[in-house]
Amino acid sequence: MLTINEIFFSIQGESTRAGLPCVFVRLTACDLRCSWCDTPYAFHEGQKMSIDEVAAAVARHQCPLVEITGGEPLLQEDVYPLMERLLSEGHTVMLETGGHRPIDRVPAAVLKIIDVKCPASGEANKHDWRNLDRLAPHDEVKFVVQDRADYEYAKDVIARYDLANRAAAILMSPVHDVLHPRTLSEWVLTDHLSVRLQIQLHKIIWDPGTRGV
Ligand code: SF4
Repeated sequence: MLTINEIFFSIQGESTRAGLPCVFVRLTACDLRCSWCDTPYAFHEGQKMSIDEVAAAVARHQCPLVEITGGEPLLQEDVYPLMERLLSEGHTVMLETGGHRPIDRVPAAVLKIIDVKCPASGEANKHDWRNLDRLAPHDEVKFVVQDRADYEYAKDVIARYDLANRAAAILMSPVHDVLHPRTLSEWVLTDHLSVRLQIQLHKIIWDPGTRGV
C-alpha cells in the first residue's frame, strides 16, 4: 500500500520534458522542510491506495508520461514496485526526489530528477552526495536558487561533480516570486554556465497556488 496525496493530469512544468502532458502521482510525506517548499500539503494529507489502484488511476488518463513526486517519494517502500509496474505497462516514468535518500534501488529505466538543495533551502546539509556518483546518463540534476550564494553553491557542485558531462541536463530554477528569472539568466549568461534555466510552467499557466495542476 501507498499513501497518495493526489494523482492528476497536467502539463509537465519542469525538466527536459517541460510542456508535455503528464500524469503526476504525488506521494504523501517528506522528511525535509525546505524554506520555499510549494507542496507542504503533501506532508500529511493522503489516502491509502494499493499499487493496482494507483496503476488504474494513472491508466485512466491515457498518457505515456508519468511522474512520481511528493513530498519525498522514496520514503515509501512500495514506490519501488509501483515504478516497476508503471514501466511494465509501457509508461515513461520520471521520479522527482529531494536528493537526500539513496537512489540506488530505483529501477534503471526510470528518469530521475535529483534535487541538490542549496543553502537558502535550509536543508543543504542533508544531501546524500553518493547520489551524484550514481547518476545514469538520462538523469537530470536540479538546483532551486534563491540568491547569489545559492547560485555560487550550485556552480561549485556542478564543477566538482562534472555534472555537465555526467547528467542529461542541469536544471536551474529561481525561487518563485523571490529571485527574478532575469537576474538568474544574467548570472548564467555572464558565466557561460551550461545549465538549463527553467521556470515552473504550471505556475504561469495556472495561478501559482492552484493544486492538482
Ligand atoms: S523536499 Fe520537496 S516536498 Fe520536501 S520540503 Fe523540500 S520542496 Fe517540500
